Amino acid sequence: MGDNVLLREKSDNGASALAAGNGAPTSNKQTFTPRPEVWAEVPDEQWNDWRWQLKHRLNSVEELGQIVNLTESEKRALRANNLFRVDITPYFAALIDPDDSDCPIRKQVIPTDAEMVPFTSMMEDSLAEDRHSPVPGLVHRYPDRVLMLVTTQCASYCRYCTRSRIVGDPTAQFSRTEYDAQIDYISRTPQIRDVLLSGGDPFVLPPKVLDNLLARLRAIPHLEIIRLGTRVPIFLPQRVDDELCATLSKYHPLWVNMHFNHPKEITPEIALACDRLSRAGVPLGNQSVLLAGVNDCVHIQRKLVQELVKIRIRPYYLYQCDLVEGSGHLRTPVGKGIEIIEGLRGHTSGYAIPTYVVDAPGGGGKIPLMPNYLLSMSDHKVVLRNFEGYISTYEEPIDYKPHDPTTCPYCKAKRPEPGQTGITGLLDGERFNIEPMGFEEIHARGGAKHRLRSEDTHKWQPFGIGTETSPVIQIGQPIETANHELL
Ligand SMILES: *Cc1c(COP(=O)(O)O)cnc(C)c1O
Ligand code: SF4
Repeated sequence: MGDNVLLREKSDNGASALAAGNGAPTSNKQTFTPRPEVWAEVPDEQWNDWRWQLKHRLNSVEELGQIVNLTESEKRALRANNLFRVDITPYFAALIDPDDSDCPIRKQVIPTDAEMVPFTSMMEDSLAEDRHSPVPGLVHRYPDRVLMLVTTQCASYCRYCTRSRIVGDPTAQFSRTEYDAQIDYISRTPQIRDVLLSGGDPFVLPPKVLDNLLARLRAIPHLEIIRLGTRVPIFLPQRVDDELCATLSKYHPLWVNMHFNHPKEITPEIALACDRLSRAGVPLGNQSVLLAGVNDCVHIQRKLVQELVKIRIRPYYLYQCDLVEGSGHLRTPVGKGIEIIEGLRGHTSGYAIPTYVVDAPGGGGKIPLMPNYLLSMSDHKVVLRNFEGYISTYEEPIDYKPHDPTTCPYCKAKRPEPGQTGITGLLDGERFNIEPMGFEEIHARGGAKHRLRSEDTHKWQPFGIGTETSPVIQIGQPIETANHELL
């Protein structure tokens, strides 16, 4: 047996078979995902070659009809010419139950005519990513990190894709000039310490292009971590080969976030791909999308996260499905997400529990939601409940000596977040309020200056807030002029 600890144990998905020959598949037909009849004669070398898999993707009624008993609704959608791109790798198509129109794998990749049904609040770009990008494909939403879209292509296409407006179009690739502009923006913005490569799927880039991009990013001194978001390991585990792992391991610290939605996606092939990535020193995370009829069940989610930690993937986010065109039939109420977290926290390993988030429509970013555990509080006690409904009290110290920011070197050297300190800025004393736009004008009620409302605004200045040591940073103030030093 090989030295592969992961694969020594017998697991219900047959991962033990991978241990043979240091993880190299020997006879894949018995031990790996079974192949439908149409591909029975494809030699193993071809089946296991990611280029073969990409070239033989399925997208028509004729091709998919050979392996799945398509419903009339699916046929109508596959024949429509205005829907989001369809393309499914043979490997992933092999996971579909041919006779079950509710198969959770199938619903993620085969369209139905429900995609054509509009719903209230649906948008093409519900997260306002294109509006909030300083250069094409770069979204700088949070103070210290950016999202960098590097390709419009994926190994297969998810029906609910939040970027269906740009993804899938073979004629709309990001150009060399756009990469240059993205990298230039990151280079001249020292507050960015984290870049997240996404798309599309960065793992479908030609290996040399990916290598070159990573090298250019790694050369930026203030960039601390590089992250990649990918669904390639799920659609095309064959792509996670030694070459890719060797490339990634040159650019540490580098993290990879994957996108599993259902325990059926965890196959021996994927266990092997993730093991390779882990051995290349890449920490692995997962982000799922909560989807009606796919994974909107506490028990499916519990199984999913438990299977993920077995292959050393840490569940990171569970996303509420975005308000994106074509995804209406896959959305759930937000309460479903709360119910799922209620069924995970306490019931299984903390390591296996993702943060449930709603990505705020209009571009507010990710907002975490969870059940309420804080029931009540006094000036010296909080009342808490646990997952079992056990109610307890935590006695707080009455002689707490508050942290002293004037002597703390980290407080003095805090990183600037121009215009974005938000609620923590209120707590920090940078300002005392956040007003809706036009608040002052509304409340002046058109009146002129008068005896009590003079030019002298001193009486409204709260003592100790927004002072010299803690200046109010105006929105749009350039980073260089902020009165802070980088930590
Ligand atoms: C999700 C996301 C990030 C990364 O957010 P984390 O919470 O740090 O994982 C960064 N930029 C954009 C635009 C995002 O949508
Ligand atoms: S892999 Fe990601 S980017 Fe590609 S279609 Fe799926 S959700 Fe969209």
